[in-house]
Amino acid sequence: MAEKRPEPIVAVGTIALDTVITPWGKAENVLGGSGMYFAVAASILAPVNLVGVVGGDFDHWEELNRPNLDLEGVATLPGKTFRWGGKYRENVNLRETLYTELGVTENYDLQVPESYRGCGMVCLANIDPPTQLKLLDSMRNPKFVVADTMNLWIKSDRENLLEVAGRCDVLILNDEEARQLTGKLNLVEALEEIQGLGSRTVVVKKGDHGAIAALGSELFAIPAYPLKKVVDPTGAGDSFVGGFAGYIQRAGSRSHAAMRTAVVYGSAMASFCCEDFSIRRIKDLSLAELEARVEFFRKLVHFD
Ligand code: AMP
Repeated sequence: MAEKRPEPIVAVGTIALDTVITPWGKAENVLGGSGMYFAVAASILAPVNLVGVVGGDFDHWEELNRPNLDLEGVATLPGKTFRWGGKYRENVNLRETLYTELGVTENYDLQVPESYRGCGMVCLANIDPPTQLKLLDSMRNPKFVVADTMNLWIKSDRENLLEVAGRCDVLILNDEEARQLTGKLNLVEALEEIQGLGSRTVVVKKGDHGAIAALGSELFAIPAYPLKKVVDPTGAGDSFVGGFAGYIQRAGSRSHAAMRTAVVYGSAMASFCCEDFSIRRIKDLSLAELEARVEFFRKLVHFD
């Protein structure tokens, strides 16, 4: 990996106060949001300039005071922070959304600080596609764009989502979303069809079944890290994107080989995220711990 400090990644996504119930317990009004999980995860590998919005009730600034995370792009508006509640049962792949309160995100008119506009690496964590497009339009010369999405936008704003897909280099989504977007049950067919939308690289996250990526005409797949106990899977997808993009930026390469390794970093990061509620496990995660888990993956899938 390159030794010099990587260039910052500019990212947008939600910054939320989550209440999560799992078979292992409950966490109330804890830090969450796609942008937040992304930023904390990616900042272990590369500097992150985060764009987003919180309400006057947001009181987690202390937790966010960390190296590699710039919050100049986070606006504070009068009103309530985005809030989301979710509940998991024994099968943590099945999630029930208890509520989504848009709060200040409803009328958020995204503003990108001038100092961010020249960055080449842009990550669109899961947020409404018009906001993702607005970030892209605000950048002077985006050279590499990674985007994530969710089922809600596939259903409610397909048109803008397709524009995002057409303008990004890497689209990351989960298996259900890939099927929903394409109408194809077979994931290999779905991957091919999504590549046809514009992004040359498509990564499909499959929860505890791992991940599969289409890189040009190549396929790459790995299992999930064999975790004994999933305490809270919230944010695993966003942390995956953070690990993926953070690695790409740190490695300074967009080759297929780098992208394969990035999928492993994403998977390793997601597995750490599941070990505790909110960002608790990833916020103090060291690069050495992350790299050790990547090495575990190397041994896990090695054969002669
Ligand atoms: P994940 O588990 O990776 O799907 O991400 C869960 C996170 O996404 C939670 O922290 C939520 O606050 C956030 N979230 C939930 N619904 C939305 C939404 N409609 N748009 C953006 N972020 C959301």
